[in-house]
Amino acid sequence: MDRVVWVTGAGSGIGRATAVAFAKMGARVALTGRRTEALADTAAMIGDAAIVVAADLSDPAEITRAHAAVVASLGPVEVLVNNAGSNTRHRHWHELAPEAMATMMDVNLRAPFLCSMAVLPAMRERKTGTLIHIASVSAVTMFPASGPAYGASKAGVSMMSAHLNAEEGIHGIRSICINPGEVATEILDRRPKPPSAEDRALMLHADDIAAAAVFAASLPGRATVADMTILATDNQIWRPFARGIAQTAVQANAKG
Ligand code: NAD
Repeated sequence: MDRVVWVTGAGSGIGRATAVAFAKMGARVALTGRRTEALADTAAMIGDAAIVVAADLSDPAEITRAHAAVVASLGPVEVLVNNAGSNTRHRHWHELAPEAMATMMDVNLRAPFLCSMAVLPAMRERKTGTLIHIASVSAVTMFPASGPAYGASKAGVSMMSAHLNAEEGIHGIRSICINPGEVATEILDRRPKPPSAEDRALMLHADDIAAAAVFAASLPGRATVADMTILATDNQIWRPFARGIAQTAVQANAKG
């Protein structure tokens, strides 16, 4: 897969795993995020096929600058991975600050819009392109732990992706919205009550989401995986419920 892939939020978690996975498939990858050191660590895992383009994606001018730097170094972006995202610890209605809400909208929703708008003209010209968005299960169903601003921003990403497919498919451009359930990454440290090590051990890994992104991008250009929801098989949301059923079944069997 000798393509130019631009990954945002590439300094950790799903973004790092996705950049490494695409590079393993032969892609040249541009790594964007705020933390130069973390991005350099990702680049070191990849080698010559990676470049670092640091940028704060909450600033539209930074996005324009970063996109220009990626194109100048690697050529037109063929696969964009809109992965950067954030949440705030004080995320519930009684504590949510307007500034924190606005930052989430800027990073989780406006930045994917602006990055998509940056890469689309060259994709249209070349009649091919793949946009991948790491939204969330919060985009598909209300997930209380995410809080309202995060959930609303991710639902917006999902609809943005649907509109990309509706308008850009005729130009050979496809949009893939990946909706992970809980993935054991740094973002969970910012929950008001971070999950235990035991809960994290049963969650998805960043590599699982990276593999899904590579799979979707590897299909022939005529095929679009419009939405992909990926959950932990032993999911903490319904685990207590399922364990209750299993216990009842054991008791019923014991009684004969
Ligand atoms: P993470 O915190 O490791 O990664 C998020 C990355 O985005 C970080 O590298 C961070 O520096 C970067 N980022 C944040 N704000 C930025 C900004 N203003 N400019 C540039 N970069 C910025 O967590 P992750 O789980 O790997 O998150 C990746 C994506 O997956 C996010 O969009 C997140 O919402 C989404 N997601 C995560 C989970 C989960 O349970 N971990 C579930 C569903 C969706």
